Amino acid sequence: MAYIEPAPIKDKENPLESMMERFNLAAEKLGLSDEVYNVLKNPAKQVIVSLPITMDNGKIHVFEGIRVIHSNILGPAKGGIRFAPDVHLDEVKALAAWMTWKCAVVDIPYGGGKGGVRCNPREMSKGEIERLVRAYTLAMLDVFGPDKDIPAPDMGTGPREMAWLMDEYSKAHGMTVNAVVTGKPLVLGGSLGRTEATGRGVMVSALAAMQKLKINPFQATCAVQGFGNVGSWAAQLLEERGLKIVAISDISGAYHNENGINILEAIAYRDSNNGTLEGFTGAEKLSDPMDLLELEVDVLVPAAVEDVITIKNAEKIKAKLIVEGANGPTSAKADAIINEKGIMAVPDILANAGGVTVSYFEWVQNRLGYKWTAERVNRRSDRIMKDAFDHVYEASVKYNVPMRIAAYIVAIDKVAKTYTFRGGF
Ligand code: GLU
Repeated sequence: MAYIEPAPIKDKENPLESMMERFNLAAEKLGLSDEVYNVLKNPAKQVIVSLPITMDNGKIHVFEGIRVIHSNILGPAKGGIRFAPDVHLDEVKALAAWMTWKCAVVDIPYGGGKGGVRCNPREMSKGEIERLVRAYTLAMLDVFGPDKDIPAPDMGTGPREMAWLMDEYSKAHGMTVNAVVTGKPLVLGGSLGRTEATGRGVMVSALAAMQKLKINPFQATCAVQGFGNVGSWAAQLLEERGLKIVAISDISGAYHNENGINILEAIAYRDSNNGTLEGFTGAEKLSDPMDLLELEVDVLVPAAVEDVITIKNAEKIKAKLIVEGANGPTSAKADAIINEKGIMAVPDILANAGGVTVSYFEWVQNRLGYKWTAERVNRRSDRIMKDAFDHVYEASVKYNVPMRIAAYIVAIDKVAKTYTFRGGF
């Protein structure tokens, strides 16, 4: 069967363990009580469903759909839906917890959740994907809701899928409920600025970190791994702010040009070439795409998948600053090496929080039945990202820990305090 590749974990480090290692370190620094530790450690809800879909060849294929709500202490759960061949429960649990910490770091009133369907959307037709999204939505009808759990795009999904989700949910409720999902197309209540929001937040956090490290953006070089929504927007916006982007990559390979790559040209090429950089002539193709991570650059932006900076290559990283556009690109075991080398890593739960921040604005606009200008969206999200960066930086000084653990400390402290006020049984 071409639709699903065999599942789990392979040689990847387990993202759940990576998340827990950092959580444990931060909890210890904070002096978190055992009771609250146990509450925050376990996901609040895990739902697994079977989704039988009639494929275009007439055969029924059963997909597995997952939704994990890690926490709804700060508010309704929030987080994307991932369609990928290697999605597994531990990964979704880690990603859901990261959403809890991410929303807490940027101080928006949401808990954390994440969904996943193990499938290969690249090998599926539009009709097959639509049926899968609709079946998943129906199966999660009791889980989702504008005040319960608000999905959004993640790897393998985008505005098109969110539109189907909104439509299916709305039909089941007999009314249009656009606040049930974010990352929608503009005409359906999507927000201006949402598409570029994650990349924009990466840019804001990179510039804030460069200021601390006294790196002049106009003299800085940068490599960006991943040229999907996050990577290409981050590259474009960093280039606009003066950085020279010397390497980019996607599933077709990594492309290097010491004199700088024209990012708008690369984006135009990708868009005219079935979404990939294959054959891009504005740079030279590296023989091993993973070499991009080890280039002599000032700033490295991993904006593709989990676990790309590991104990295997961390020692060879030469960047002074890592800004994590992806979720979980650095394994916990690599943290110590990165810290030892004096590299500043702006962690995922801070650096890529611009996406969920503008998702929050989209939800607010939907609930008000109102539309903000792009200028207002960008101004407010830039301010939130900069404040969050400063807050985490202060915590890193106060607790004498790297930025990653500082971000966990800020997040866990906030969720723990809220939990204590709300109380339990
Ligand atoms: N999937 C994105 C993330 O990991 C966005 C989530 C959202 O907007 O709810 O942050």
